[in-house]
Parts: sequence; structure tokens; C-alpha cells
Amino acid sequence: MTLRVRFAPSPTGYLHVGGARTALFNWLLARKEGGTFILRIEDTDRERSSEEMTRAILEGLSWLGLDWDEGPHFQSEGLERHRREALRLLKEGKAYLDLTTPEELARVREADPAAALRYPREQAEALPPGEAAERAAEGEPHALRFLIPDGETTWVDRVHGDVRFRNPEIEDLVLLRTDGTPTYNLAVVSDDAEHRVTLVIRGDDHISNTPKQILLHEALGNLTPDFAHVPMIMGPDGKRLSKRHGAAAVGDYHHQGILPEAMNNFLALLGWNPGTEEEIFTRETLVEAFSLDRVQKKSAVFDPKKLEWLNGQHLSRTPAGALAGEVLDRLGELRSAAEARIQGEPGWLEGLVELLKPRARSVDDIADQARPFLSETLIYDADAVTKHWRKDPEAARGHLSALRDGLASMEWTEEALETGVRALAEGRGVGAGKLIHPLRVALTGQAVSPGIFEVLMVMGRETALARIEAALDRVEEEEGPGETNDS
Ligand code: GLU
Repeated sequence: MTLRVRFAPSPTGYLHVGGARTALFNWLLARKEGGTFILRIEDTDRERSSEEMTRAILEGLSWLGLDWDEGPHFQSEGLERHRREALRLLKEGKAYLDLTTPEELARVREADPAAALRYPREQAEALPPGEAAERAAEGEPHALRFLIPDGETTWVDRVHGDVRFRNPEIEDLVLLRTDGTPTYNLAVVSDDAEHRVTLVIRGDDHISNTPKQILLHEALGNLTPDFAHVPMIMGPDGKRLSKRHGAAAVGDYHHQGILPEAMNNFLALLGWNPGTEEEIFTRETLVEAFSLDRVQKKSAVFDPKKLEWLNGQHLSRTPAGALAGEVLDRLGELRSAAEARIQGEPGWLEGLVELLKPRARSVDDIADQARPFLSETLIYDADAVTKHWRKDPEAARGHLSALRDGLASMEWTEEALETGVRALAEGRGVGAGKLIHPLRVALTGQAVSPGIFEVLMVMGRETALARIEAALDRVEEEEGPGETNDS
């Protein structure tokens, strides 16, 4: 039997870390085993579901590259089937109509606290045959409940191994409400059977639903799927992951400049242990390495630092060409300057991205670091200015003037610039650093940057000379921090 798995989110919120991780595990296994990955939107909670959330979930999955083979199915489309199947169970004596009011129920439970788990179906059974149906038909509030059979329900969970529940401890769950709407457990069972799902992979917060669902499959005569319950994700404080921990919707990570490859890599390691030292995975290597055997039972811990680190790792492995478009999108008001530059020099942006990405942790970082290369206005870092210009302004002025004159006539290649600048330093009787540090501040406003000769290459002669000129004007001026060169 070929593997058929599904991801079944409720569109009551964005696609969050936990949901995305469940989707990824399903997708990985389907791809590894040549199975089918089904997407089902569980939209039966009309009030809390929205099309906007459905769209956001589909976008999140697409961004991660988790393509589905079937669907999206919408649970609400199966409403009639859900109802039909529940009524079949009623007809077969596997379900019953229950008119017990909440007050009656509270009274019965108070009288017998030991029976708290099991549903007191005796109330319903006490009614003469036919009466419940009549009163329900007249509109009296009622529920159709599943009659949990005696015995025990067990399954071999693909993560947890043998799991066992005593049936008398399972409540006779509601299948249909007064208005005939199906409940979650009925709808899921009916849909999983309809979609011929062979394995359900989901969060282990659903473990207590599983015996109910197995019993329902059996009562309906379905083939029962296998189950794999994956561990919950906790924040660093050991509490269940939530917004408080800075865990955001997958779309937010996209906006923050996290790469989908890094996000998948991070999500995979939440609960799955590759069993090797290797921590960097692409989607392809994940497909190869993934197995349910190595999914752990204990909860996983969400570590934002690790995501940042993984993102840096993936950034450095991603070709600049694949990042340039994302960087351009993040340049804001500098976008047109960048486009003008690219027009004259196709490949210029790729060169810049190549230069910046080894120091960047996100695409956002790259865009930030690209600013000094594009903006007319340079923001000078106050410490850099103090240290490399103002401590010895006379020397800085001398070095910068020599650089301005020298760079004006040097051949504009990395090697020639390096040879030329080193020769200039030698001629002035100082180490190259004495020239390079003030030059770096002049060009980028910062004390740190990628290699200065690469910076010169990407910046171009014209901008470089203009920046040195602007620097010479202000080397000795006393101005506050965060000063710019446009005053
Ligand atoms: N819609 C359910 C949820 O989002 C799906 C549960 C399941 O996978 O069976 O929790």
C-alpha cells in the first residue's frame, strides 16, 4: 500500500512553527517514500475560520516549498457525508441520541464523581424507545453520541510505540450537535477514510483523540490508518511555544529575511534527530535522511539563535544570484538607485550580495549593509570617526588626500588597487592599515566592512572619490554621533 499522508490545518490562525513542522514531516516522508501528500483545510469551525488564514497557510507552505499532491480539500465540503455516516452509526446502534441537559449531567456527575471520565449514558438509555427521536425532531437540544464499546484500544504509534487506552475511560463523544453539524473527531475520521490516508502524522496534543478516532474507524468499517504523534515544541523556558517566545507565523520569518531552506532545516531539527554530526540540510538532503524512527518522544525546544545561525549557514551557501531579487525588494527608497546602477552594470547587485553575504545573518542584513553602497547619504558611526579620523586628524587628512589622488589614476581591478594602496602607504612610511582604516570609514561610515579592495571595486571609482572628498571636509569637524555627509 503506498503511503498517503495529510496535513490538516484549521484556518483559524496563521501557519505557525508547530503546524509548519507537522507539514514538513508529512511532506518529507511522502517524498522519501514516493507517497502522496494531501492538503486538507479543516474549516468546519465557521466562526473562527477565514479565507485570509487559508490563503496565509497556503502561502506559507508554498514559501517553504512543501508542495501538495492532492487538495486543498476543504472539510466543509464533506458535511453531508459526515452527517450520513453518523446517522448510519445511529441506525446500527453504534450511536445514540442524547437529550441530557447540562444541568442533569452536572447532577449525575456530582452524585458519582468516580464516573467523571466515562459518559453517563444511562440517562439517555432511560428514555422509552422512540421518545428521544421524537423530541429531537421537535427541536429539543440534543446530541448524537458515539457509543464507546467496552474493552481496550491500542495501537503501535510510529513514534511512541505501544499506546493503550481503557475504553471505559473514554467519553461517549458527540458526533453531531443539535443543528446537525459534525464535530472534529467525526469529520477527521470520515475525511481520512475518504482521502484513503494510510498514516496520520500530527502533534502529540492529539494523542487522546486517537483512540476515539480508531474506534470510529472500526465502527464505520474503515481501514484504520497508522499514527505517528510528533513531540510538542517548547519555548526556552519549558512552556509550550507561543507568541510570548517570539515564535511567529512562518510569513513573519520570511519578512525577517529568513531563507526557506534555513526554516525547513530548523523545523526538521525540532523533534527529529539526524543521528549524525551534520546539522545543515537542504530539502533534498532532508528527504534522504528523514525517518520517523529518529523522531523523538520528548518535546523539542525552540531556539531562535539556532535559526539565526542556520540562516547564516544557508545564506553563505546560496548563490548571490538567487538572493539578489529578495535584497532588491528590501531596499525601500534605495531601490531605484539600485535599479539604475544595475541598468548600467548588470550583475552589479550580485557582486555586492556576494561581498556582503559572508557577514550577514539574514537577507535583511544584506539589504542593510548594501545601503552605504547606494545611498547618497552616508551615516558615520561615531566611534569609527573618533578612532580612525579624529584621534590624529592631520595624519588622517594626509592619508585620505593621498588616497584621493592615488585612486584617481589607478587601474580599477582588485589586484591593482591593492598594489597601489600598499605602495602609497609605503611611500608615506606607514603600514597599509593606517590608510585603509580611515578609508573604510570614508567609504562605508563604519569601522568594519568586507575587504576594502572589494568594497572599492563594487562601489566604483566615482562614488569612492566623492566619499573621500566628503570625508576630507569633515575629518576635523567636531560633530555629534550619527552625523551624515549631506549637511
Ligand atoms: N485541524 C486539526 C488541527 O489543526 C488537525 C488535527 C489532525 O491532524 O488530525 O489540530
